[in-house]
Amino acid sequence: MKNTKYVFVTGGVTSSLGKGIIAASLAKLLQERGYSVTIQKLDPYINIDPGTLNPYEHGECYVTDDGAETDLDLGHYERFLNIPTSQANNVTTGRIYQSVINKERKGEFLGKTVQVIPHITDEIKHRVQILGETGDFDIVITEIGGTVGDIESLPYVESVRQLLWEKGEENAIVIHLTLVPYLAAAGELKTKPTQHSVKMLMQSGVSPDILVCRTEHEISDDIKRKLALFCNVKQEDVIQSIDAETIYDVPNLMFEEGLDKVVLNKLKLPIDNKPHLIEWNNFVQKHKNPTSEVEIGLIGKYVELHDSYKSITEAFIHAGSTNETKVNVRWIHSENLTPKNVEKKLKGLNGILVAPGFGDRGIEGKIKAVKYARENNIPFFGICLGMQMAVIEFARNVLHLENANSTEMSKSTKHPVINLMESQENVTEKGGTMRLGAWDCEIKKDSKVFDAYKSELISERHRHRYEFNNDYLKQIEAAGMKATGINPKTGLVEIIELPNHPWFVGVQYHPEYKSTVLNPHPLFVSFVKATLKHSKK
Ligand code: GLN
Repeated sequence: MKNTKYVFVTGGVTSSLGKGIIAASLAKLLQERGYSVTIQKLDPYINIDPGTLNPYEHGECYVTDDGAETDLDLGHYERFLNIPTSQANNVTTGRIYQSVINKERKGEFLGKTVQVIPHITDEIKHRVQILGETGDFDIVITEIGGTVGDIESLPYVESVRQLLWEKGEENAIVIHLTLVPYLAAAGELKTKPTQHSVKMLMQSGVSPDILVCRTEHEISDDIKRKLALFCNVKQEDVIQSIDAETIYDVPNLMFEEGLDKVVLNKLKLPIDNKPHLIEWNNFVQKHKNPTSEVEIGLIGKYVELHDSYKSITEAFIHAGSTNETKVNVRWIHSENLTPKNVEKKLKGLNGILVAPGFGDRGIEGKIKAVKYARENNIPFFGICLGMQMAVIEFARNVLHLENANSTEMSKSTKHPVINLMESQENVTEKGGTMRLGAWDCEIKKDSKVFDAYKSELISERHRHRYEFNNDYLKQIEAAGMKATGINPKTGLVEIIELPNHPWFVGVQYHPEYKSTVLNPHPLFVSFVKATLKHSKK
């Protein structure tokens, strides 16, 4: 059993400083030094999980193997560390309160008044320690969502305070991520916001061990000294985190600044092996020095907020690096695609990806994009709803099944080529009730997907309620669209392809969730390769 140590990451001054990337970068360095590390995110909102959130609110909903619908930061953790996360890695206030209230209903508090302290904080502390109790990790990094000073964060900060006290200073530390803004008019970096946010943290009884300071300009020793003095840390514990060209530079930058060393010293852990980041840097090198360029259209309905498709764009970066190719994404709003402008909007693309989604807004535009890709031999990748749209397009325009549709969009369609899964028929609650998480898929050998995966059995993550209607399978296959991936237990069609097209693949699952720096997803690699071929024509 390992003596697991805990690192808490809090944020100050403003949100969006990139706590997730700092946590993931630190974890990467510790992992390269030989430690087993995982990262957890505590989200202070009252939703049970982000599964019911509109992507405009919170970006992409990331799905783990065990079917948890989670914060998109878990995607960064997996992409950086190359190890899977699970439900235990993401906890929300909603989930905390739900379990406390359930216990209360069962009478488990024996007549006591149930309060934020100790009951909510005990539940938070329990959730923080679950990962440590597995015995699998030397270090658990826990990122506290939100910003210090938010009302919602208070029980979390209090729980951190208690854990620091219980575990002792060699076993638990706090990194406070803050902003040191540059005032152009004064020509100066300003430390006051950091002083204030550290003061706020101290009011809750938590004194940071390390400050990581986000900045646009180099932080001088003078400023570091000032920050150290006013924030009660040593000067060497003030770490600069300067804006990076890519998030994949951050582990190297944090290594240069010595963040991992400072952490290990405080936790009294040996600093024997240097992190070499050999494979990682090989990826970064190729990512930064592409020999070709392609343009891929991403057709979706949340394109105004690029975070809604985070795992897809990151998977393009991984696959681009493998192909030594820069992937430029042209963001195309599906609602703005009409029969008149489709040619103009999609012209010049080397590939088209139709994104996942829910509901009928923008779907006719998605169908037009599929048609354009199919008829013009442009590499096409349909993910989840994108795959369903490819089936509908084929049914309408090749099989001439008039108004073929998904029953999600039209309950009364005469040709429900996509319909509700049987297992979903009696589902009434929205949260956590889709077909979620990892399921097996058997792949037919004579297919593009087999060429990509080089395997006849794969496992991929899902998040859907509707499926390919097997009543139409014969007709559709006879007309030239093949089902090349099937769930061996249920017969559910997981993959469709057009063999007579340079690269046309639709998948019911979400391959993007499993693409990492060290294991770029084979389908994304194959798709980008096809777009490269297209660009050279
Ligand atoms: N709305 C579709 C379904 O539920 C697709 C879901 C998705 O794209 N994730 O089946």
